[in-house]
Amino acid sequence: MSTKLQAIRGMNDLLPDQSPAWQYLERQLRSLMDRYDYREIRTPIVEQTALFARSIGEATDVVEKEMYTFDDRNGESLTLRPENTAAVVRAAMEHGLLHNQTQRLWYMGPMFRYERPQKGRYRQFHQIGIEAYGMTGPDIDAEIILLSARLWRQLGMAEHVTLELNSLGSPEARAAYRESLVAYFESHHELLDEDSRRRLTTNPLRILDSKNPAMAEMLADAPQLLEHLDEESRTHFEQLKSTLDAAGIGYRINPRLVRGLDYYSRTVFEWTTTALGSQGTVCGGGRYDGLVEQLGGKPTPGVGFAIGLERLMLLLDTLDLVPEEAKGGADAYLLAMGDSAEREALLLGERLRDVLPTLRLQVHCGGGSFKSQIRRADRSGATVALILGEDEIANGRLTLKPLRDGSEQRTLELDDAITWLDQQFA
Ligand code: ATP
Ligand code: MG
Repeated sequence: MSTKLQAIRGMNDLLPDQSPAWQYLERQLRSLMDRYDYREIRTPIVEQTALFARSIGEATDVVEKEMYTFDDRNGESLTLRPENTAAVVRAAMEHGLLHNQTQRLWYMGPMFRYERPQKGRYRQFHQIGIEAYGMTGPDIDAEIILLSARLWRQLGMAEHVTLELNSLGSPEARAAYRESLVAYFESHHELLDEDSRRRLTTNPLRILDSKNPAMAEMLADAPQLLEHLDEESRTHFEQLKSTLDAAGIGYRINPRLVRGLDYYSRTVFEWTTTALGSQGTVCGGGRYDGLVEQLGGKPTPGVGFAIGLERLMLLLDTLDLVPEEAKGGADAYLLAMGDSAEREALLLGERLRDVLPTLRLQVHCGGGSFKSQIRRADRSGATVALILGEDEIANGRLTLKPLRDGSEQRTLELDDAITWLDQQFA
């Protein structure tokens, strides 16, 4: 018996109608990274399972239940990357990028998490992220936030996202806080749901993340991390906030923002939107000064963020922010009428592309009547059809038939036609 072959649940095909919008977004992202002089790093999509288990934390959702893990043919446990911070740290250590230097890096690509698929939540999704190493001060925290804020402005969506900010303090301060938090939760044990009871011993800070309305009131009164900050983290946080104030970046302090992964310290932040329902976090990041050492390297400060591209794309679509000219389609469509014209059209197409490097030209293939070729020209999105028939070939001419603005068709000397195309589509 054969079953129908289809894509894996929660993994999406990107179809040609959608790819121009994605390419537009990717161009915006790449040029932004360039303008801040961040450099791209590409790592494999598969890593040793231990890399993620040791960095993200055993008691996190990602490691507990979301990883795509399998044994290689030689029995080694491998995992499709659920996020890329750990892999970039691994690569940076492996290639000596962290020794006595600073790095500003970015990556873009697919991530994999076994989650319940829904709008804005998929099993294969894409992130662009930044990782900056070797800088301890709040200035670099501010820079990556300013960079993200510029992106929202560049995309025209600045008023639709909100910056949420918190500090997790030093590991020591967090350990002390953790104790007082556990004591508080234990005194309200009867109010904890099953998930939270489990987390009480494994990862009590994550209980603060809970969306369970029955726990909301109890959580609102829980001790706050910001009140337990060590002196250095407090100063770091104050400086970050005053830089953001000076730059005119608004934010909301969210004392319950702890982020999903274990490796953060000090600054954590998220950009959220209300336009996408419950999948409202578009970008999340923070400082992770202990991670490099935790993975076996020399202590190296790090800070970064990741943006979910599907959510960003959904937001651009919802707000209708993809510019018309970014939507793709041909400029011109070259028709061939008559037997010898077919080959001539292909050759003319090459010649036009030689002299008009920015022209988007589709040359008709496969014959057919004038009517059917014009129909295809129309569907290609072209604004003009170029008609090459026996007459045109014999006289060194080309007929231009405008498809959108209702103006008259005319036949020009080939050179004049090229000049016209150049003016139109340069
Ligand atoms: P969430 O709370 O929505 O599960 P997260 O804290 O797990 O997010 P991060 O690990 O911080 O997410 O990843 C950064 C960003 O990647 C998120 O803010 C989101 O935009 C995107 N993202 C995370 N998981 C998914 C997913 N399964 N599908 C689509 N995008 C995702
Ligand atoms: Mg998640």
